[in-house]
Amino acid sequence: MTETPIVIVGGGPVGLNLALDLAWRQVPCMLVNQGKTTADHPQGNTNNARTMEIYRRLGIADRIRDVGLPIDHCGDAIFVTRINAHEIGRIKIPSVRDRLKPGSIDLELGPEPLQRASQMFVERVLKEELDTKATVDMRFGWKMISFEPSDEAVIVEIQNIDTGKIETVSCGYLVGCDGGRSTVRRSLGIEYVGKSGEEVDFMMGQMLSVYFHAPALYDVMKTDAPWQFHSMNPQGRASIVALDGKGHFLTWAKLEPGQDAYSIDPRPYIWRVVGEEIPVNILSSKPWQAGLSLVANEYQRGRVILAGDSVHLFTPTGGFGMNTGVGDAENLGWKLEAWNSGWAGDRLIGTYECERRPVAIRNLAQSYALAQDKSALSVPPAIEDETPEGEALRADLGIRTEKTLAEEYYCMGIQLGARYDGSPLICAEHGDVPVSDPFTYIPTAWPGGRAPHCWLADGTALFDHFGKGFTLLRLGSSIADTSALERVAEEKGVPLSIFSVDNPQIRALYEADLALIRPDQYVAWRGEAVPDNPSALIDCVRGA
Ligand SMILES: Cc1cc2nc3c(=O)[nH]c(=O)nc-3n(C[C@H](O)[C@H](O)[C@H](O)COP(=O)(O)OP(=O)(O)OC[C@H]3O[C@@H](n4cnc5c(N)ncnc54)[C@H](O)[C@@H]3O)c2cc1C
Repeated sequence: MTETPIVIVGGGPVGLNLALDLAWRQVPCMLVNQGKTTADHPQGNTNNARTMEIYRRLGIADRIRDVGLPIDHCGDAIFVTRINAHEIGRIKIPSVRDRLKPGSIDLELGPEPLQRASQMFVERVLKEELDTKATVDMRFGWKMISFEPSDEAVIVEIQNIDTGKIETVSCGYLVGCDGGRSTVRRSLGIEYVGKSGEEVDFMMGQMLSVYFHAPALYDVMKTDAPWQFHSMNPQGRASIVALDGKGHFLTWAKLEPGQDAYSIDPRPYIWRVVGEEIPVNILSSKPWQAGLSLVANEYQRGRVILAGDSVHLFTPTGGFGMNTGVGDAENLGWKLEAWNSGWAGDRLIGTYECERRPVAIRNLAQSYALAQDKSALSVPPAIEDETPEGEALRADLGIRTEKTLAEEYYCMGIQLGARYDGSPLICAEHGDVPVSDPFTYIPTAWPGGRAPHCWLADGTALFDHFGKGFTLLRLGSSIADTSALERVAEEKGVPLSIFSVDNPQIRALYEADLALIRPDQYVAWRGEAVPDNPSALIDCVRGA
């Protein structure tokens, strides 16, 4: 029987991220994915600032940018009657070059701004990177067919898709990153709760997703090619998203109830947005269900853990689904490493659910509210009339659209502001816990949130100096004696590195001389001096 500490089922973005995180931490694992390759249809497009920070830590942020929308590509979302007709509204969104300019708001809040890059292209980069890792047993073209958990281990059966060969694997933890139809979740009898989609005009109910190549679309545009076009006309609403700035696009349109996505010609859906029948090469076309807002009622049962879409299903508005799953993977990676290395307390793995489920619920609520706002925008039948009345209708819809939808594109709180208040791993402080607002992110070192970012004099980011384990920051001109904490950490096998930075602004940002940063870059504790009982602090943060 094959033995490995961890088996990950599912090679989508979440499983790939978890495997990469474990590889970075030198923890062996097996990644089982039924497809022989990564996905060949684009879904997620927005890699938010937190996800990009994670890619920076893994050393692949630049490669993700290379497969994304080019640096100078216009980032705007434009609302049109049709692409060849009237622009009715525009949400200005910075290009990546603007985001990367010194002094930009993005670089003030984090070291790696958001990047639009299709999940399909990103998955390829993640897999290529994993293929170089000796500690990861890559099983693409293998399917997990059953598993049997016990107190000591999980026995997993996997089958080779081509040969039918069955292999039995014993692992300490099985992680189901196997998507919305998760076999792992359903085998455990764990259910989703929440909303499952209403049939309204757009971004709710049955949708069609079409991946296509159409360089001729650039000739029709009356503006520089933007990131997104959203058409609003009496034939329905639809979106076209630029994937690479080289003629590859994705469109989302509403299907009629009962319509079979696999038997229809998708081109008319594209032409309705464009306004004319340009040459279009359809690369793939799939149905999907918008308007979902579902979360599993459990994230873990014993030695079986769930992450990504297997525990939360989003409607795509806001682009939160994949990013929330990537956040699950980073929360889990270091806890599994701690377990594998023997320094985890008994409660550590169990904190995954209490930290991540509330984040999913917060993000789901926001995504659903944005989708409701989007679908509630009514399009007047005379919107295309070439009359003063038609013009007035377009102006009015433009104002309503910009006002209603701008928020979707600026959810900094969702990107950077997830908090783990109430987790037993966080050393709570007295006073008012910072509000976890979906739109606004206010940097704070109040324990439970992502460590605030800042640039150092040498041009590196503070985050670049965080270790793989815990990092004790010594800030300002602190002369605090930290030796007791270092000694206790060593005795308990907890990896701890020290980073000193004598900068009054950073000291002011953290509002303390000392801050203990977790392996996932979240603040666990802060204070002016090592507490009287450093052992209790180390036990708290390692879940003992
Ligand atoms: C139209 C659309 C647009 C979206 N836009 C965004 C966006 O902009 N930003 C964002 O963050 N999210 C977005 N999302 C959501 C995002 O695509 C998903 O959240 C993401 O794919 C979830 O990743 P995952 O790894 O959890 O699951 P999946 O991507 O579903 O991957 C699961 C993998 O597990 C494999 N698998 C399943 N069962 C088994 C088994 N028994 N054995 C072996 N392998 C198995 C599957 O083959 C698959 O490869 C969008 C979704 C849609 C539909």
